[in-house]
Amino acid sequence: MISRNKRRKSIKGIYILLILFIVLLGLKLTWHNDSLTGKLISNLAERKETAMTVSPPKIVNKTKYRIVVDAGHGGKDPGAPGASGGHEKIFNLALAQRVYQLLKEEQMFEPRMTRTEDQFVELQDRAAIANDWNADALISIHANTYKDPKISGTETLYRHSDSIPLAEMIQEQVSKALGFPDRGIKMEQLKVLSLSKMPAVVAEIGYITNPEEEAILLSNKGQDLAAQAIVDGLKNYFGQNGSLNPPKTEESRQIPSPPALNQNQYKIENKVYFDGSAKDGKQVALTFDDGPDTIATPKILDILKENKIKATFFILGNRAKSHPELIRRIVDEGHAIGNHSWSHPNFDKTPMNEAMKEIEDTQDVIEDAAGVRPILFRAPYGALPKDKLNAINKMNIAVIGWTVDTLDWTGVSSNKILSLVHKQLRPGGIVLQHSANGKKHMANTIEALQQMIPELKEKGYSFVTVPQLLHLPDSQSQ
Ligand SMILES: [Zn+2]
Repeated sequence: MISRNKRRKSIKGIYILLILFIVLLGLKLTWHNDSLTGKLISNLAERKETAMTVSPPKIVNKTKYRIVVDAGHGGKDPGAPGASGGHEKIFNLALAQRVYQLLKEEQMFEPRMTRTEDQFVELQDRAAIANDWNADALISIHANTYKDPKISGTETLYRHSDSIPLAEMIQEQVSKALGFPDRGIKMEQLKVLSLSKMPAVVAEIGYITNPEEEAILLSNKGQDLAAQAIVDGLKNYFGQNGSLNPPKTEESRQIPSPPALNQNQYKIENKVYFDGSAKDGKQVALTFDDGPDTIATPKILDILKENKIKATFFILGNRAKSHPELIRRIVDEGHAIGNHSWSHPNFDKTPMNEAMKEIEDTQDVIEDAAGVRPILFRAPYGALPKDKLNAINKMNIAVIGWTVDTLDWTGVSSNKILSLVHKQLRPGGIVLQHSANGKKHMANTIEALQQMIPELKEKGYSFVTVPQLLHLPDSQSQ
């Protein structure tokens, strides 16, 4: 085009062609706008990898709230059976799809589903979908169940207190729309809620074990009403909180949230740790299992405090629930906390889902009491089959054994405890003792400890926590 321009002598002709050229160029740019956006997005992804400080270009839908719509259960996990013989998973998916469609029509939302067909998705994966996508809210759709078919009503569950406003707004809309009894909002330790880092709720729309409610839940009309109510609840929540909680921009989504577990900080290997490295010198980690109780645990804490040393307590969830003040004391006094299951079952004989629940519930109760999520787990009786070890490692929890077993729980004398420690301890060793559950409230352990600490100091040992010994963070929240 340019060479032909040159041949033309008339100035007027050059002007006309120049204008034509500009118009064509404009058209070409508009035409390629889509691929341009695509390029910007892929550039964005590359920048995320390389330079976090470069502020990314603005992209079109930065003002949308990302909502993860989770249809509960699915695949091999059918959920609750309904009064008419169908299963919860079918209803959950049907309603979730309606919610998803309605959200897509709303300017302010960008929805995403955790499953779009009858498939099984692990609970932690549902939360991970929302976390990885940096969602602004997660709503998990369920129907309730009870042995008494007369029981009815809508309830909304949450786990973390920052989900309460969302739970209240969903509950209000759904119970109003369907006219089911309003059973209110409840705090529940559900994995999908515990693991989600954004406001997250489980909407138990109604009882499929109640024939009248089931009929409404399975009807088109009922599902339309419920879906619209959920969307209205979300609109109220984000509308009201909009000024406080603006949607995340692409820029802010790229900043890793500080409490998130950074996998690069440490490595959890697929193994049981029995000791630390002797290269770190004469270190020893004292550990106390099965607490807290109100007699032995405080005495042990007093001794550790007098001697200015730190230890590690492997806690039982059901005891932590009864004595949260002792969990706080342990953490406040600088000791490390590990998870020792909820009720001390033998994991060789516990089904996988129960075992995981034992651990997850204990993580939650410790976090509730002291604000830390343990990074350590010790199996009751030291029993842990390979599949459970792998599953625990996937939760970013290190499994801890021991090198010295004091047998203190059997009621052996303090002298026996001391001789076992002196015979078996090597630098980097982990000593197993108990802070509850033994004979005479662990009188032998307490007596031995008062002697053991100065004797080991005399031998040149320094006392460290298990995370210090293994170069791990004190807890998952670090
Ligand atoms: Zn134990």
